[in-house]
Amino acid sequence: MPDAPPPTLKLDIDRQALANNWRTLDRLSGSASAGAAVKADCYGLGVHHCVPALRDAGCESYFVAHWSEVEPLLSIVPAEQIAVLHGPLTHEDVAFARVTGVRPVIDTVRQAALWRDGGGGPCHLMVDTGINRLGISPAEAGDEAVQSLKVEVLLSHLACADEDSDMNARQLAEFQQVIPHISHKKASLSNSAGIALGSDYHFDLTRPGLALYGGIPRTELAPNIRQVAFPRAAIIQTRTLRAGDTVGYNATFTAPSEMRAGVLSLGYADGILRAWGGGAFEHEGQKLPILGKVSMDMIVIDLTNAPELGEGDWVSLPYYLPDAARQTSVSQYELLTILGQRFAR
Ligand SMILES: *Cc1c(COP(=O)(O)O)cnc(C)c1O
Repeated sequence: MPDAPPPTLKLDIDRQALANNWRTLDRLSGSASAGAAVKADCYGLGVHHCVPALRDAGCESYFVAHWSEVEPLLSIVPAEQIAVLHGPLTHEDVAFARVTGVRPVIDTVRQAALWRDGGGGPCHLMVDTGINRLGISPAEAGDEAVQSLKVEVLLSHLACADEDSDMNARQLAEFQQVIPHISHKKASLSNSAGIALGSDYHFDLTRPGLALYGGIPRTELAPNIRQVAFPRAAIIQTRTLRAGDTVGYNATFTAPSEMRAGVLSLGYADGILRAWGGGAFEHEGQKLPILGKVSMDMIVIDLTNAPELGEGDWVSLPYYLPDAARQTSVSQYELLTILGQRFAR
């Protein structure tokens, strides 16, 4: 079979911006080092595009959620730098971790016993300090299976770091209380937003995700974090609408007068949801409003402001995450992770 013809969707990944964001977050982490949350295929941007840039920038600690996310990383970074946040649920998980050398994050007393009984070895330990997602409770710190672990990184995770919430200080205090009761090499509390909460929150290792990829969870980070992902689409058809013509599903746009429109081949499967209705693409600073609804995987745009554009020409979707999130009411996390596989990266 011949290679597929060139795609009509592109997601430009600015690797320099990504590397710059990691270096910035590492610097803002003070005496702690920054790691990187690379789960969900680097928040949708692609492990193969992002992780080499993070490695070359100096990152030495990577967090994924699922065991299935380990394999693509193993050819890029050393196994012992990879941590699996979900922890081992089964003997197969334990065996996989021991054979590959990746570090399980132990989340329950049961997992601690499973890991120990499967041969054990260096691991990380998550303590829940109030998010009630993953992790042992502080009260379980004295459990003998937990105490038997060779803990490299003792972790906890903040629930509200992107807000000025009392919860942050409460979680910090809980974490500080449990730290002396579990022997470990490093402690780690902060995600991207936590880094901006100040040095008390930094400990030895920080775990930014969102901000690496251009997300801005707290305004303190805005001056230093650069956009990384830039979606573009080719115009695959142009048409002239007559006054009274309607566009798209449910015919929600009616042309007030004759106008030129372009058809783009992207939509829900690409992560461009109906929430973008009322938004606009851009070409050289000119706004090209979306006409009607995003209709499955088609979007029609108004070409009035760029009459020179024709079939095969490219237009951009403004994807500066704080603005895009405000406009669509889709969170910055979701805006990244839903970008689909039909974008050539
Ligand atoms: C996803 C995740 C992170 C990264 O969080 P961001 O808010 O994206 O910076 C850090 N730690 C844990 C445990 C996570 O699950």
